Amino acid sequence: MNTPPSDLSALTDRTVETLSKLVHIPSPAGHTEAAIGFLEKELDRLKVHHQRTVRGALVASIPGREAGPHRTLTAHVDTLAAMVKSIDKDGLVRLTQVGGFALSTIEGEYCTVETTSGRTVRGTVLYEKPSAHVSKEVESAKRDAESMVVRLDVESPSESAVAALGVAVGDYIHFDPRFELTDSGFVKSRHLDDKAGVACLLAAVRSMVEKDTRPRRTCHFFFSTSEEVGFGASAGIPEGTGQLLAVDMGAVGKGQASDEYSVSICAKDSTGPFDFRLRQHLVELCRANEIPCKVDVYPFYGSDAAVAVRAGHDVVTGLIGPGIDASHNLERTHRRALLATAQLITAYLDPA
Ligand SMILES: [Zn+2]
Repeated sequence: MNTPPSDLSALTDRTVETLSKLVHIPSPAGHTEAAIGFLEKELDRLKVHHQRTVRGALVASIPGREAGPHRTLTAHVDTLAAMVKSIDKDGLVRLTQVGGFALSTIEGEYCTVETTSGRTVRGTVLYEKPSAHVSKEVESAKRDAESMVVRLDVESPSESAVAALGVAVGDYIHFDPRFELTDSGFVKSRHLDDKAGVACLLAAVRSMVEKDTRPRRTCHFFFSTSEEVGFGASAGIPEGTGQLLAVDMGAVGKGQASDEYSVSICAKDSTGPFDFRLRQHLVELCRANEIPCKVDVYPFYGSDAAVAVRAGHDVVTGLIGPGIDASHNLERTHRRALLATAQLITAYLDPA
C-alpha cells in the first residue's frame, strides 16, 4: 500500500479514539439507538448517504467506480448486557442476561441501571452473599442467575426504595466498559466485540472519503443491532449484494491461530466453511499489502454472515476481524490488530 508510517499511526490513533467513544455509549442488543445515532452523525459529517432499516440497523452506501455485484460489509453495534429480572424485598436486583456470557465474567463489575424514563442508578454486580467475613460460600458457590445480584448504590435499600427510583423489571443493566489503552499498545475493554469491528469499518470509510477515492464496486456498510441475540443481518441486506463480508472479532485462545496483533480471516466457524475464493482473495490482499493476518477456525462462533445466509440471502460470505483475547469476558486486543483490520477492509474496497 506504500502508506507512510506516520499516516498509519494517525489512522490507528483515530480508530482507537473512535473505539473508545463507541464502548462508552451503551448499546445492548435491543437498545442500540445511541450508538446508531453516533454513527449517523459521523456519516453525515463525511457526507455518506445512509438510512435505517425498519428494525433500526444502519446502512451506509458509497457508489463504486465499476458496475457489478455490490459488496456489503457488516459490523454489529449491539453488545452484551443484562436486564432487571426481579427486585428482592431487601432491594437487591436479580438479573437476566442479554446475549451469551458466563456470569462469573461480570462478578465485581460496576454497572448502571437505566430506567425507562432515562434515569440512571449506579450499582455493582456481586454474588448474593459477597462478604468474606460473613459467608464462606463466596469462595466456592456457583455463579448463576439465581445467585448473582446487582447491589444498587441506594441508602437503606428495599424493594419500595428501589421502585421509588423508577427501577423496574425490564430495565437495562449496562456494565462499565473499563476502556484502557496501555503504553504497550494494548486496548483493554468490554464490548470490543464488535465495537472494534465497527471502529475499523468506520476508519476505512473515513480514509476513503477523506482521500476522495471511491470503491471499485458499490459498497454498503451494514451496522447491525441484534447480532448478540442471533438475528442481526437476517433482513435489510441491500439489493444487489453479491459478497457479504462480516467484520467481527477473531477468536484468540489456546489452540487458535489468531492473535492480538493481526487481522483474523476465518476459514470456518460453527456454521461451516466460508467461501473459499473470497477467503483466498482476502489472504492474497494481506500478502500483497504486507498486512499481518492469520487464517483461523473458530470452534464456538456464529456471525452476521451466517445469519444472512440462514435468512435466505444468496450471497457469498467471508469473515474478518481483529484478534480479541478473552471474548465475552474482559476482552483485549492491540492497536496493530485494529490497523491490520482497517487496512484489509481498505484493500478489499480497492479505492485505487
Ligand atoms: Zn461479535
